[in-house]
Amino acid sequence: MSEFSFEVIHTSKKSSARVGKITTPHGIIETPGFVAVGTNGTLKSLDNELVSQIGLQLMFCNTYHLLLQPGREVVKKAGGLHNFINRKMPIITDSGGFQVFSLAYGSVASELKSKGSKSHKNSVVKITNDGVMFRSYRDGKKILLTPESSILAQKDFGADIIIPFDELPPYHIDKNKLAISLDRTHEWEKRSLEEHRKNINGQAIYSVIHGGIDKAFRKKSCDFLTSLPFDGHAIGGSLGKTKAEMKTLLEHTMPRLPKNLPNHLLGIGDLESLAFSIPLGIDTFDSSYPTKAARHGVVFTKHGKMKISKTINSDFFAPIEEGCTCPTCKNYTLAYIHHLFKAKELTAMTLASIHNLHFMVEHMKEYREKILRDEI
Ligand SMILES: [Zn+2]
Repeated sequence: MSEFSFEVIHTSKKSSARVGKITTPHGIIETPGFVAVGTNGTLKSLDNELVSQIGLQLMFCNTYHLLLQPGREVVKKAGGLHNFINRKMPIITDSGGFQVFSLAYGSVASELKSKGSKSHKNSVVKITNDGVMFRSYRDGKKILLTPESSILAQKDFGADIIIPFDELPPYHIDKNKLAISLDRTHEWEKRSLEEHRKNINGQAIYSVIHGGIDKAFRKKSCDFLTSLPFDGHAIGGSLGKTKAEMKTLLEHTMPRLPKNLPNHLLGIGDLESLAFSIPLGIDTFDSSYPTKAARHGVVFTKHGKMKISKTINSDFFAPIEEGCTCPTCKNYTLAYIHHLFKAKELTAMTLASIHNLHFMVEHMKEYREKILRDEI
């Protein structure tokens, strides 16, 4: 079993973009890399064997959802998440903090990575320095999520990369409250790291850099978290309202992260954001956007996005994209996929998701090749 390690293979002469290789006990993640989001241990409408075949080297699963169902014990009994969901390649899990605090602060439903947000409202009972008490939307039981319990759950899940428990303050928060939240998050991340180090178990732990859109707070967060022995750093918290705001924030944050460790941008993976984040040196991105778009009949091509229901043209009996080597394009025409969407067949979502994920894998490969040639 390989230990977790990271190697920078090449840094572009033109920007801070870099090509790297993360080694984990379950295999290699080439960077920059796209991370698929499989909230409940699956990418919606795809089985995990297929996900591996598409070449998605890292999959993101959500601790909050898995804790509520099937629960920690079931996953543990199954021999961990890899066994339970039949995935041989690397997995990253989050701490549950993102979802719990999305409930607490009544953030927009879209901030949640899964459905059912409305029924979650008012389910947070208490937030203290110890952790968060919330009520399960499944059976109403009270659950206390603390830095320690989050890490222990992620230990049972056996994820290759784990994330410490953090607070997700809302975008609209006054400075004093943000300062208090940041201190609490730092304390929780430190406690998470301590819990992790009691039983490293071949797993790696990334910090989550916070501070909202306040530059001084982001700097403070980088200074504090990079002083601790984390294996990598994720960038989280509020990343701003617009892409321009996020870009400014990343330009300020990225130079403060150690170059010899991998980093991850949480919850971002749209093509436009990749285009400005990769030159800043971001290594991995997770997003449910490519699969969500696919389920809505939007497919990615080299010429931009295409809404399948509107594809009535001369290429109708051609694949989604000529030359695409994905199983969907190799076997099916747009006409057929268009028909499946019109007939509301679930297979439509599966075929479109396969194409979009394959597109992301290829897109990242192209980025890596361009960086190696110092083109970006
Ligand atoms: Zn395709």
